[in-house]
Amino acid sequence: MTSERGSPFYDALGRVLERLGTSLQSFCPPCDTVARRVLEEYGAMFVAEGVRVPPVCVFGDAAEVHAFQREATWRAAVFGDATVELQPAALEALVAAREDTRALGLDITARGGAEAGRRGFDDSLRLWRSRCDPALEHWCARGELTTEEAERLRGLGLREQVAAVLELEDRGVFFSKDLTKSILYSVAAPGASQHLAMLAFDAAEFRDARVRDVLARRGWFQTVRSDLPHFTFLGLTERELPARGLRRVETDEQVFWIPNTKAVNRES
Ligand SMILES: [Zn+2]
Repeated sequence: MTSERGSPFYDALGRVLERLGTSLQSFCPPCDTVARRVLEEYGAMFVAEGVRVPPVCVFGDAAEVHAFQREATWRAAVFGDATVELQPAALEALVAAREDTRALGLDITARGGAEAGRRGFDDSLRLWRSRCDPALEHWCARGELTTEEAERLRGLGLREQVAAVLELEDRGVFFSKDLTKSILYSVAAPGASQHLAMLAFDAAEFRDARVRDVLARRGWFQTVRSDLPHFTFLGLTERELPARGLRRVETDEQVFWIPNTKAVNRES
């Protein structure tokens, strides 16, 4: 269990929530362990600058997402063969990044069509099921789960289902696409995707270090470990990130900026 007080991420988040006029208690209740886990996996976007961030750590339903998106507003541009929608500042920075890459003879295009940018709640639900259902079938076939257990899990409410999946993963029954890691590194828990906040973009060119450099210089960083094509608009320079409670992690030869939830020990 991580400490809320004295960790760089929760300190930075606390300042953001104060500006929003809310508290950590109502934003992401400590008793909701799934929401907390999700916050610590995808929470980097909450320290973004110059954009709106959601007033809750996990959206509860389509209506909440709708209300947030309408208030934050979005703009559209064509990337490759897809029309991508993002919060205005995020889109502007992405278009500028694309100009930068073109000057280098490169390009930035959307991966996976329009879903590379703004998504709705139902999209996040469908993506969740696209990982969950095959994994359940696989683990049943392998004898790790009984059909009754799988049925019970399918019938759970959304929050309970996420909790049940994470519990199974604790004993090595993984739900990512390749079934070797947590589902959270494969798709977001429904309601928690940064794409719902219109601050995320999946880039087809994510393997090109030059493209990643250009994106970072325009405020776009990788913030979800193992989700390689996924970039988050933070509107900050790389040097500013540690002071915003993010720490640098290198995985798969790429750099990720994730919530730094390690408590700073001030006692000894
Ligand atoms: Zn993404």
